[in-house]
Amino acid sequence: MGGSVAGLRAVETLRQEGFDGEVMLVGGESHLPYDRPPLTKQILTGELAAEQLYYRDLEWFERNEVELCLGTTASALDVQSSVLQVGKRSLRFDGLIIATGAQPRRLARTAGLAGIYTLRTIEDALTVKEQMLPGVRLIIIGAGFIGSEVASSAAACGVQVTILEVADSAMTRAVGPQLGRVLGALHDEFGVSTVCNARVVGFGGSDRVESVHLEGGWELPADIVVMGIGISPNTGWLASSGLTISDGMVCDENLNAGPDNVFGAGDVVAWPNDWWGGVMRGEQWLVAAEQGRHAARNLLAGPGNATRFSTVPYFWSDQYGCRIQAAGRTDLGELITLAGELRQRPYVGAFRYEGRLTGVVAINAPKEFAGLRQALQTNSSFDAAVATIETQLKAVD
Ligand SMILES: Cc1cc2nc3c(=O)[nH]c(=O)nc-3n(C[C@H](O)[C@H](O)[C@H](O)COP(=O)(O)OP(=O)(O)OC[C@H]3O[C@@H](n4cnc5c(N)ncnc54)[C@H](O)[C@@H]3O)c2cc1C
Repeated sequence: MGGSVAGLRAVETLRQEGFDGEVMLVGGESHLPYDRPPLTKQILTGELAAEQLYYRDLEWFERNEVELCLGTTASALDVQSSVLQVGKRSLRFDGLIIATGAQPRRLARTAGLAGIYTLRTIEDALTVKEQMLPGVRLIIIGAGFIGSEVASSAAACGVQVTILEVADSAMTRAVGPQLGRVLGALHDEFGVSTVCNARVVGFGGSDRVESVHLEGGWELPADIVVMGIGISPNTGWLASSGLTISDGMVCDENLNAGPDNVFGAGDVVAWPNDWWGGVMRGEQWLVAAEQGRHAARNLLAGPGNATRFSTVPYFWSDQYGCRIQAAGRTDLGELITLAGELRQRPYVGAFRYEGRLTGVVAINAPKEFAGLRQALQTNSSFDAAVATIETQLKAVD
């Protein structure tokens, strides 16, 4: 249920684990499951074509006897009688994995103007790409990882980019304010201006956007606008299902959604992550993929045999030729520089909270990052974790 990375990994796992019953993948988009991360990167820059994004070809689904039901969304779920409503079809199921992901948030006051976009699907990316011509004035709302990647790709195509961010630094939610300021400076270095503490209150133009209005009376001219202001989980269709919905579909620590035969995976799920120490929703590719696999295994294991899903959240982002990686909690404690300097690359930093290593960030230092990320799994003390990769860190300096 949900034809993207979490849904696909679930389907693959069912077959890998020897399940030989009927399997159906229902997906709202008409595409075969495809990789979203390149949409803001190589698709916008033209380094990849949309056809290269598919994880599996049609033949794979036929060979593995997975029935595809694409291009139609599920509209309702009856958990009592185990029936899913998809278009005009009522599908009875023995087991269900809900992986309907999320959709971009939009600002309300766009007044139906053309030229204002969000970016989540192949179609969104191709539409934005088509308009990214040299000299075009692009305003990006939100300096999170989507907005920052769009900025980097657009700048590489000769577009004049301005990013508006309501917080006082870029990427704050993903990497914390200290490193966020450094990543904000990366935009400046590549000719992209970032305006922080900027609250958008409206847009100008009659049919098509011509400007963006900011609180305080400022007005910035724009030919196109891309909004990267976060996502909302796709739970609307579950409203009458009786499942618990609260910023996502709430699952238990085993990713079970309540009824024995219904599990969740991916961006749509809010679950108690033991490692994190509370309920969270992952918005990261790797978490979605791992949850898809885990949910499938738990569904097959049956009631009483399911296992907990605990993970150290991880994401990467590619901007201006830099690979940015972050894992764990970047919202707790202080950021300590371990190698490099904040304004230089490569850079490795780690978050220390009550003597423990709680988070890791790196720019262009994948090996050192991998070592520290492993230490995060085991709740290491900060000093012990750093000692294990001391030689590698010296090589960075
Ligand atoms: C442009 C972009 C770049 C990204 N880059 C990175 C990155 O660099 N690093 C990283 O870690 N993460 C990145 N991410 C995040 C990552 O792609 C997501 O975490 C991941 O796609 C989540 O997968 P999912 O399967 O849970 O949901 P989604 O990918 O959201 O897919 C859900 C699918 O379910 C379908 N659906 C929704 N409702 C229904 C319904 N009622 N019935 C049937 N189908 C339905 C949707 O149409 C969609 O196809 C990026 C995301 C985007 C959009």
